[in-house]
Formats: sequence, structure tokens, C-alpha cells
Amino acid sequence: MRFDGFEGNDETKRLLSSYVDGGRIPHALVMEGPQGSGRRTLARLLARAVVCSSADAKPCGCCSHCIKAAGGNHPDITEAGGEGASRSFHIDVVRQIRGDAYVLPNEAERRVFILSGAQGMTEQAQNALLKILEEPPKHLVFILTCESRSQLLSTIQSRTVTLTLGAVEHDAAVKAIMRILPKTTEDDARQAALVFGGIIGQAVAGISDGSFRRVLELAPDMALAVAAPDELTLLRLTGRLEKDKETADGVLNALSLIFRDALVRRVGQADDMSPSPQAAQTLSKTLTREQLVSLIGSVDSLKRARRMNINHTLFLTLLCSRLREAAGR
Ligand SMILES: [Zn+2]
Repeated sequence: MRFDGFEGNDETKRLLSSYVDGGRIPHALVMEGPQGSGRRTLARLLARAVVCSSADAKPCGCCSHCIKAAGGNHPDITEAGGEGASRSFHIDVVRQIRGDAYVLPNEAERRVFILSGAQGMTEQAQNALLKILEEPPKHLVFILTCESRSQLLSTIQSRTVTLTLGAVEHDAAVKAIMRILPKTTEDDARQAALVFGGIIGQAVAGISDGSFRRVLELAPDMALAVAAPDELTLLRLTGRLEKDKETADGVLNALSLIFRDALVRRVGQADDMSPSPQAAQTLSKTLTREQLVSLIGSVDSLKRARRMNINHTLFLTLLCSRLREAAGR
């Protein structure tokens, strides 16, 4: 299988290649991973590989199937759902798919349904889908995308093969960001790759919508405020995230990098990764090694809380109190 332009995630690619090259693509796959990790891009690549008629590596990009699929109008590839608010995947969509599913392919050997944002399906909708997955017609391939397979019913999980997407190795992520946004400087691309944890789609979105700049402005001030004598500065800065949920993950990553750099300096080295070596330098002088280690741990636990979809206001309160506590303030 060919993955032109799709960076990283080598283990997942190896697995997919073994399915496609061996001509044994499962009837139902789940592509799980954080937003911006390329779930839908990879789902579309796989769909093209399913319909491609080339005898060589698929998708070849030049057979009539590949050309139609690239243009978004291959009759045997259907996309449904979306990445919107949760529970937005209506059961009527699944019912319609169920009706269509038994129709034989028009041009290719198999038909592909891509269901994006499958976590948005109600239980009722998932159960409707399950009816096809229990005894799928031979010509069908379902590709579901979601953040985590745990968001799906266990009965769906047990009938699907899961492919996991995640962070891309640093240099590859930098290259991809600069390819997608050619005007970005290498320095910005490197910082964005770090701040967005190697998730290329998030880094690209962050640079484009300005949230990357906001992270760079906010995180160093917040890092310093963690160690300030009074709590007010941190509360005030954290307040800026109240209406800016999207920036919160980037801020957590940037804080983690600043505390990490401060710790490295504390033990007598300098190997900066963070967006603000100055903040790291100041913190290395005002906080102890134990406090810095504790801060890094606290940021990790805050990240986990975010992944569990914690209420945003509660998250901001925790952020202030946990970090101040870790800094012994
Ligand atoms: Zn082809």
C-alpha cells in the first residue's frame, strides 16, 4: 500500500499494508486517534486502496478508480457523519446506509463506507449499524473514525479491527507542517510540533487560526505566575482560557516543556525545547528540583483530565490549584 504524504504512524501503516497487499482487508475497521491525527485522511487513502484496480501498490493514483476517488466522486465510496458535536450522528443516516449496504458495487469490487466521528452515534444508531456488522455482505468495507474505540459499544468494538493514530516523530512532523504551510519558518514549525504534541493536524490548525501564537504568549507568563508570591496573576491569566478551550491543550504542552527545561537547567545543563528559555531560566532559580518534578507530574495529570472530557471551568480551577500546590505556593 502507498501512503504518499502521510507521515509517521509506521506501525499502523505496516498493519494496513499487510491487509491491502495481502488482499484481506477486514469488513470493518476503526481508526482511532486525537483530532488532527489524520484519521479521515488515512480512511480516505484506505478507501482508495480498496477500489483501486492497479496490480501494484495501491492506491496507484492513476487508474480510473483512483482518479474518481481523489475527486470525491467514486460511486462506491460513501462518506457520512462528521466531526461535529457529540451525539450528532443521526440514526436515520445509519438506516439509510443499512439500506444502501446491500446494493452491489457499481464499478469497483467492493463498496466502502467511511463513518467519521463515529463517537457521535447514539446507542440506537450503533445498534442499527451492528446489524450489518454481524453478517456483513462480502462486498462491504466499513471505516469508522473516532477519538477512542472505547467511545463505541463493546459489541461494535468486538466486530472491528482497530488502527491507532498518534503523535508523529518530531522531524517528520516539522517536515509535514512546512509542506502543508510553506510560509511557516522552520523555527515556528519546530515549536508548533512540540506545543501540539506531534499531532500534525492540530499544529497546522494552531498556526492557521492563531491559537499557536496565543499559546506562545500565554504559557511563559503562566509558568512564571505558578511560582509568584500571590495567586492572583495565575488566576487572571488562566481566566483567558475560559473562552478559549482550543488553546488549553497547547498551553499544557508548553508549560510541560518550560518546566522540563527549568529542571534540566537546575541540574546544570541547557538543552532547550520550550518556547521560552527565559521563563525556564527564571524558574530554575526560584523552584527546587522536587517542585519542578512535581509540576511536570501535575501537568500530566491535567492532560489526562482533559482527555476524560472534564468540565472546562472545573479544569481551569484545578489547573490553578494543582500547579500552585506543586510549586509549594
Ligand atoms: Zn488506482
